[in-house]
Amino acid sequence: AAQRVGTNRQQRYTGELDASAQHHADLAAALRRGLENGEFRLFYQPIVELPLGRISAVEALIRWFPDSGGAPVSPAEFIPVAEQTGMIVDLGAWILDTACADAAAWRHRFGDAAPRISVNVSARQLLDPELPALVAEVLRRHDLPAQQVTLEITETAVFAGGPALQTVHALRGLGVGIALDDFGTGHSSLTLLRTCPVTTLKVDKSFIDELNGSPQQEAIAASLSGIASTLGLRAVAEGVETQDQADRLHVLGYRFAQGYHFARPQPATAIHESLLATARAA
Ligand code: C2E
Ligand code: MG
Ligand code: MG
Ligand code: MG
Repeated sequence: AAQRVGTNRQQRYTGELDASAQHHADLAAALRRGLENGEFRLFYQPIVELPLGRISAVEALIRWFPDSGGAPVSPAEFIPVAEQTGMIVDLGAWILDTACADAAAWRHRFGDAAPRISVNVSARQLLDPELPALVAEVLRRHDLPAQQVTLEITETAVFAGGPALQTVHALRGLGVGIALDDFGTGHSSLTLLRTCPVTTLKVDKSFIDELNGSPQQEAIAASLSGIASTLGLRAVAEGVETQDQADRLHVLGYRFAQGYHFARPQPATAIHESLLATARAA
């Protein structure tokens, strides 16, 4: 009987693998078509300055609206597939170009009141030795100062050192900011601060979620903003959902925050409207 159960389990496991491999292949094909058909849009989520909530920067977050209809597909689902298939290189170039075009338009219209732009760069993109040249070319083409742009990278992309870390140094050399995304969730967050030319720490939402009067959690959140300020880095609190959290974060030394409490990711036109409203009020 034991043998039979084992065999069944083996078959079921193989079946699941086949189904997930098929799903992966379907998704990869749909992504390729989506890129050709222009089914992607960039949304932007404000990163605000505490306590008043002025928009300091916006993070570009990709959205996929398949022509076939249906619900938009989450980047958490398709970015990993785009990475594994290498498609992220083309998709990433489109993201960078589109984000910089929008940032340049805001700069043209709003001058120094325009927000900086933050663009997520995946591990696979950092392995492309052409990335720094691409970034330099995009900045030049849109006449956008490098200081207006921050690239968000994750710890896992660079912790092994090697070519990815070299690429980050080359990017920083162009003058763009480098943010460590989901900071504090990896295995080597602090070690990385010695080798990686970081300008911003994005403190992961998991540290913010727990800020409900737990002294331990408050101490951790305060330490993370303390490390940032000691090292001369910006700290951004991610995933802020309540006024209480925003108030506590300000007290704990955070100057910047991002989250649904302030604004959801939204189309460029909606960001433009907010900037217009602020300009009119000034
Ligand atoms: P991330 O870079 O850490 O982005 C933050 C994610 O948290 C976004 O999810 C955002 O919509 C969500 N978020 C922001 N505020 C709140 C909040 O208050 N509550 C909650 N529950 N969530 C909040 P999204 O847009 O689904 O993106 C997920 C991940 O996909 C991103 O995490 C990033 O790793 C990746 N991603 C998104 N856009 C891009 C892109 O253009 N390029 C690359 N390479 N990766 C991207
Ligand atoms: Mg990010
Ligand atoms: Mg993040
Ligand atoms: Mg995060």
